[in-house]
Amino acid sequence: MRLKVKSETPIQKLLQEMGVCSQEVLVFIEGKISPETSIAKKGQEVSIIYFKHGAPQSGGALHKQRKFEKCKCGGNPVYYAPHLGRHFCKRHFLEYFEKKAKLEIRNKKLIQKNEKIALALSGGKDSFSMLHFLSHLKEALPFKLFAITIDEGVKGYRGHTINRAKKFCKKLKVKHYIYTFKKEEGVTLDSLSKEEKANCSVCAVLRRRLLNSKARKLGASKLIIAHNLDDTAQTVLLNVVRNEPLRFARMEEPLVQSKSLIQRIKPFATLSEKEVATYAFLHGYDYGEGACCCPYVQHAIRRFIRHQLNLMEEAYPGTKLRIAASGHTIQNAIRKTIPEEKLQINACGICGEPSANQICKACLAISK
Ligand SMILES: [Zn+2]
Ligand SMILES: [Zn+2]
Repeated sequence: MRLKVKSETPIQKLLQEMGVCSQEVLVFIEGKISPETSIAKKGQEVSIIYFKHGAPQSGGALHKQRKFEKCKCGGNPVYYAPHLGRHFCKRHFLEYFEKKAKLEIRNKKLIQKNEKIALALSGGKDSFSMLHFLSHLKEALPFKLFAITIDEGVKGYRGHTINRAKKFCKKLKVKHYIYTFKKEEGVTLDSLSKEEKANCSVCAVLRRRLLNSKARKLGASKLIIAHNLDDTAQTVLLNVVRNEPLRFARMEEPLVQSKSLIQRIKPFATLSEKEVATYAFLHGYDYGEGACCCPYVQHAIRRFIRHQLNLMEEAYPGTKLRIAASGHTIQNAIRKTIPEEKLQINACGICGEPSANQICKACLAISK
């Protein structure tokens, strides 16, 4: 959305009138990224960009109008952190962002010196941010990094993002491997859609297996996933809504450690999606180019929960962090109740990849 304001207009008021939740958009005044606490002057052009999915079905309401302030250094802010009540200029935002991700890595011992690590790179804003962050991190903590992109075979959608992923890796000199569902699995999302089997869970199960087996065969000890705080908080609420306690137990890490199962790590786990979107923008990510959504995406409940969470965050800053923390508390409690026999990993009878059951979910999904 782009508009010229007729008189001096607080952006928060504008967003409220438009029914837009500030946690779902990036705001630009005269092309400059600005926090939602900014005030646009008469005649200035304001653009509002949804960084995911486009506008939701129901609107958002701001509960508190927050005051625009400069960064503590006196610089012009690019981001407002509601849970801290603080504005950040570009330099201090980047510092804050990277410090938080580094803290997560240090606290959970996610990356060791000289370790060989794979990054799951889709080509979207989240993995783009991760690639940039990791290439900065490598200067302080030397480790070997390569990227894996999975081409799920969605005509007219994936080609563009895959080219973008290639471009990122070339620029940052990161070795890049691309695998296709077509060659590795013998199916594509397009072909599955003809059998009415093209949905997010089938796609996720296939992608997960392929990422795990390729990362392992390429010698990685860990696989980096660019999930953020919003993803975790959404998953916690989804598990509650669907009443699936076992999913809680498996939420962050597998129930059992196994050599065949590459550990998935999430350095952005404490950063919000808006923070990741801002970081991506500040590193040159272009929100204008290409399609943003897979045509097979069916995220009815997740999308609804995502929007509700953003509204809650806006009204009660820190909600996402607390929901994620609740998830971990529940997870620890449930893990203690799981019987021994469930705590083992088998090799799938068809493909040989690790599986909790005799046949893995990916093999089941394709054969059904
Ligand atoms: Zn500053
Ligand atoms: Zn299998």
